[in-house]
Amino acid sequence: MKIRDMLAKGNPTVSFEIFPPKSTYPLETVFETMDSLKDLNPDFISVTYGAGGSTKGNTVDIASRIKKDFGIEAIAHLTCCTSSKEGIQETLASIKESGLENILALRGDIPEALQNDKNWNPQYRYASELIDEIKAFGDFSIGAACYPEGHVESKNMVDDLKNLKRKVDHGADFLITQLFYDNELFYQFREKMELVGVDKPVIAGILPVLNIKQVKHIQKISGCNLPPKFLRILDRYEHDPQSLQEAGIAYAVDQIIDLLSYGVDGVHIYTMNKPDPTRRIMESICSVRQAACKAVK
Ligand code: FAD
Repeated sequence: MKIRDMLAKGNPTVSFEIFPPKSTYPLETVFETMDSLKDLNPDFISVTYGAGGSTKGNTVDIASRIKKDFGIEAIAHLTCCTSSKEGIQETLASIKESGLENILALRGDIPEALQNDKNWNPQYRYASELIDEIKAFGDFSIGAACYPEGHVESKNMVDDLKNLKRKVDHGADFLITQLFYDNELFYQFREKMELVGVDKPVIAGILPVLNIKQVKHIQKISGCNLPPKFLRILDRYEHDPQSLQEAGIAYAVDQIIDLLSYGVDGVHIYTMNKPDPTRRIMESICSVRQAACKAVK
């Protein structure tokens, strides 16, 4: 099923992100993760593309097996900044052949070695160009990334919103946010989107904090704001990993319940391939999720 059709029903979706294992791990480990996630009833599962050093080549295979073998709708991420036109055409052909109907179209992070390379001449500069290519290729539901606190490379929020509008004008039919820990910034972002005329569904990305190293890394790459309530948790449980994980799960549950009460289009849990925290979150939000769906009907 196309995710745009799922979202058009108006019920808030709950979905998960997983990543392909690094090449040093067997591919099957991701299906063990899937075995533990399948009964949690997500609306769809997204599979990252080359993020965090995972193997790009496996994204389509994994997404296709999620759909065929686990009976769960899937979306393949696809990045373009280091790809050739031929490479993208080949990947699109394999996505189509595997029966996948959804693609998350991304530029990708520019590798450090290329950032200052004056001779680098990419065939794709922005995700909007990839969206054009996907639209021309076939009838996919196309998702794109958005950044409630602005993308790290953007000069300001106005430019970032203009660029977001460009992605939607080129054909993105839903958006998934960068992770955030301050719901108020997400609500303000929704208002700003409305002002610039971006009216596509926005799925909120939620990453439960599981350890301090992870938080530091996230803040470095996303520049996201850490609100006082969240900082107090980090401060208090910095040297107590078990309690930090418990508090991180509770914080994510609190965030999701608030988002569902607000009427969010969907929630996307970055699982980090760790089924247990995801299960705990899903169990805690189960009845609020059902009530939010009933409220729509
Ligand atoms: P774009 O939309 O192209 O934007 C990149 C920057 O360029 C922004 O600052 C934007 O404002 C600016 N810009 C856009 N268009 C123009 C223009 N025409 N003129 C001037 N400036 C412009 N990375 C991976 O490698 N693999 C993944 O699987 C992956 N999954 C992700 C999933 C989600 C939900 C999110 C939020 C991010 C994901 N990323 C992934 C990270 C993403 O690739 C990076 O954040 C990347 O730096 C930007 O990608 P984008 O598609 O948002 O780029």
